[in-house]
Amino acid sequence: MQKNLLQEIVNAFGLKLFVLRLDLIHAVAGGNKLFKLKYNLQKAHEENCDTLLTFGGAFSNHIAATALAGKENGFKTIGIIRGEKVLPLNKTLQFATSCGMQLEFVSRLYYKELRLLPEKIISSLNNKPEAINRKFYVLPEGGSNQLAEKGCAEIVDEIKIPFDYICVAVGTGTTLKGIALALKPYQKAIGISVVNDLSLFNNLQTATCQLQTGYTFGGYAKTNQVLIDFIKKFNAENNFGIEPVYTGKLFYAVFDLIEKGFFEKEKTVVVVHTGGLQYL
Ligand SMILES: *Cc1c(COP(=O)(O)O)cnc(C)c1O
Repeated sequence: MQKNLLQEIVNAFGLKLFVLRLDLIHAVAGGNKLFKLKYNLQKAHEENCDTLLTFGGAFSNHIAATALAGKENGFKTIGIIRGEKVLPLNKTLQFATSCGMQLEFVSRLYYKELRLLPEKIISSLNNKPEAINRKFYVLPEGGSNQLAEKGCAEIVDEIKIPFDYICVAVGTGTTLKGIALALKPYQKAIGISVVNDLSLFNNLQTATCQLQTGYTFGGYAKTNQVLIDFIKKFNAENNFGIEPVYTGKLFYAVFDLIEKGFFEKEKTVVVVHTGGLQYL
């Protein structure tokens, strides 16, 4: 990346607080998801695949990012979308379609099955004349795999200043894990969980990595008035936006942790803005 994505937000409470604006990378598909795709795209090329096949909900940032990455890197793309088709398509799916992604809407139940058994959808797609002889590269839901971690480690390269803490919202934890891989021993990654999934916890508790589970607001995409009011105030006071699913909970947590004295004085804290503004 050429641009400086680092923006100072406050220099107060004895701390320096910066935001890493990954949302600036692309208006719709910006954020962490393109980092997750980087090495998967490389592997898809190596395996001579011509089509990226992946899964997501109707608002999935991963779907948008896969559609864009496919278009820019010469892959056809197919998105298996959870739930019924709703017209007009929302901004995420309109964008995916405009990148040439083929969308296949499936029931929630069938989606669950397909997610675990992608061969099934491939064999049904292979019956369609336009799909014959395609070579598929299957990306898991959210694009989360080990190659995605390797890509997310490169998020840290975008921070051109010394820092002590890096904070990021956690869905599957892939981004947090990747970031933690790139840290020096004196640095620490703090993950703010936005889902109620305790299985993440053991996985994400390491020397350079810590998971905070007290800011889920009831679970994925759940909110309350306190969170909504915080986001409204934040968005009125800053020249960039946060939303209720990921970055709103992240910033709420960071300010709460600051107030509680979690970060030592004189430290530099970088908060990663992972995009997702279509949730606003
Ligand atoms: C997917 C996503 C995350 C979470 O990434 P994980 O690697 O699944 O933890 C955070 N923020 C936004 C905006 C996302 O779209």
